[in-house]
Amino acid sequence: MIIFEDVHKSFGEFQVLKGIDARIAKGQVVCLIGPSGSGKSTLLRCINGLECYQRGLIRVGGVVVDARSRTIHDVRMRASMVFQRFNLFPHRTALENVMEGPLYVLKEGRDEVCERSLSLLRRVGLGEKSDAYPASLSGGQQQRVAIARALAMRPELILFDEPTSALDPEMVGEVLAVMRSLAEEHMTMLIVTHEIQFAREVADTVLFLDGGRIVEQGDATQMLNNPQKERTRDFLRRVT
Ligand code: ADP
Ligand code: MG
Repeated sequence: MIIFEDVHKSFGEFQVLKGIDARIAKGQVVCLIGPSGSGKSTLLRCINGLECYQRGLIRVGGVVVDARSRTIHDVRMRASMVFQRFNLFPHRTALENVMEGPLYVLKEGRDEVCERSLSLLRRVGLGEKSDAYPASLSGGQQQRVAIARALAMRPELILFDEPTSALDPEMVGEVLAVMRSLAEEHMTMLIVTHEIQFAREVADTVLFLDGGRIVEQGDATQMLNNPQKERTRDFLRRVT
C-alpha cells in the first residue's frame, strides 16, 4: 500500500529525512514513533504531497507520489489524513463537516452522502451530535468527527498525526477506541503516536524514527518489549 525507497527531504540546508526505506502492506496498522523533531510529521506529509521530497520514491497503491503532478489527487483520494488539531470547519455542523468531502470532492448525491455521513457519525459514537457545531463539542468528540470525515472519503488508508496529543487525558481513550475498531476492521493505518501501550496492543509494525532515519522497525510486540537498538531503548524508557 505504501512503499518508501531511500526518501530524502530537506528544508533548505536542513536535512529532515535522510533515506527512509519502509513498506506498509494493505490492512496493516503501523505506528511511527520517535522524538520530537525527528521528522515524523514531515514523513506523513510527504505521503500525500503536503510536502515534497527531493530524492528517493514514495508509492501509494502503485502511484508514485509527486506533489507537483496531477496524480497527487489520486493519492489524496486514497489516503485521508487526521491531524493533531482536528481542523474541522468551525461554521459547519458535525454532519456538514463529514459531508463536505463526498459532496464537493467525490461529487456524490446529497441524500446518499447525508445517510452515509450519519451512519459514520454513529459509528464513532456521535449519532446524537450531528447538528452540533465544533465549538460545542469536546476535543475528543471533535477528533471523532475528524475521523468520520476521513472515513467519508472511502480511503484505502488513513494517516494519523498524533491524533490524541492535543486532547485532555480523559478524552484520549474514546479516540483510541475508535482507532482500535478501525484496526479490527483491517483499515490500513499509519499512526504517529506517543501512546506506546496503544501501539503495543494495536500495531502490527512499529517504525522508530530518530534524526531523520528509521533506526529500528519490526514486529510491534517484539520491538516495544525487546528493542534491539540502544537508541530505541533510550527513547522507550523516556516515554513509558
Ligand atoms: P516531528 O513530527 O517528528 O516532531 P517534524 O517532521 O515536524 O518532526 O519536523 C522535523 C524537523 O523539520 C524539525 O527540526 C522541524 O523544525 C523541521 N521542520 C518541519 N517543518 C518545517 C518547515 N516547513 N520549514 C523548516 N523546517 C521545518
Ligand atoms: Mg509532528
